[in-house]
Amino acid sequence: MILTFIVFILGSGALVVGGRFIAGQQRGNASEVVYKGDPRDPRNLPLGDGRLSEGPRKNYVWPCRVPFGGGGAFRDGPWIKGDGTWDATIKPHVEGDVAWDNYRYAIKIDGDKRKLVGNGLPDHHTGKFPIDRNDPAFQYDRNPNSIREGEISFDLPLDPKFADKPSCVPMGTIGVMKSGVALFNALDGEGRDAVAHEIQDKCNGHPERDGHYHYHNLSQCIAEKRGKGHSELMGYALDGFGIYGFFGEHGEELTNADLDECHGHTHEIMWDGKLVTMYHYHATREYPYTVGCFKGTPVRVPRGPGGGPPPGGRPPWFPMFGF
Ligand SMILES: [Zn+2]
Ligand SMILES: [Zn+2]
Repeated sequence: MILTFIVFILGSGALVVGGRFIAGQQRGNASEVVYKGDPRDPRNLPLGDGRLSEGPRKNYVWPCRVPFGGGGAFRDGPWIKGDGTWDATIKPHVEGDVAWDNYRYAIKIDGDKRKLVGNGLPDHHTGKFPIDRNDPAFQYDRNPNSIREGEISFDLPLDPKFADKPSCVPMGTIGVMKSGVALFNALDGEGRDAVAHEIQDKCNGHPERDGHYHYHNLSQCIAEKRGKGHSELMGYALDGFGIYGFFGEHGEELTNADLDECHGHTHEIMWDGKLVTMYHYHATREYPYTVGCFKGTPVRVPRGPGGGPPPGGRPPWFPMFGF
């Protein structure tokens, strides 16, 4: 349902902006979203729509700006169940099997920095983009973008520390996974649960409008050889902390309930070949899937959609009410 609404911008007098609003995507603080579903059951996952916050908050994403429009799926399929849950097992994937032999990604340690350098292409195959009109996914999502190279170049702190306060995550890159692919937050261009609404390929990726291939959750094409214990390191968030897979210290599948408001926790992990007690994020099957806010200090995103958070983490969005 699309409503016309008016946003009042606090702190700048009576400035009024008109805009488009899709029901359910308002900031979580404006209205509570009832939590439904089972965080570990792919047939009955909680839908993240409407869980955008204005600060660190469990089960939510704290985006640096409220997204408005911008492509994505235009029609809900039967996997969006209308009761606040969704079924990942019946959602289609974008078809195709395209290899990217020219992918490039390297992680180098240089002094107190960890340098991530690549061309944004995956080390695995992808679906065929733009989505073909004969692809069943086309009836839900007409992603017209082709996958193109996009520079990955980040100097992360080698041993990240907590910032004074957590900070928001940009719309755009929030981390880089070990497949060389950018990780975005859980929201699509309209502020909805991207993993549930957008149609990705079978590696959980798709290109945005500049052609940059990215994920919104843990890609099932990143191999893990963990045995029975804690998940392996699957990538780095832009504050330098590691992002690990679904499983905790005793091999149990983690949910938001096991993690803090930014989607991480602290215990002994393997870090650069040593066992150390430190903070790290986890991916979950459950929204917000990966990092919901940064505990450390993120590096600025040099370019690409959304850009980085502003210095000091003060978010540039406008509080809204009265629609
Ligand atoms: Zn996306
Ligand atoms: Zn852990």
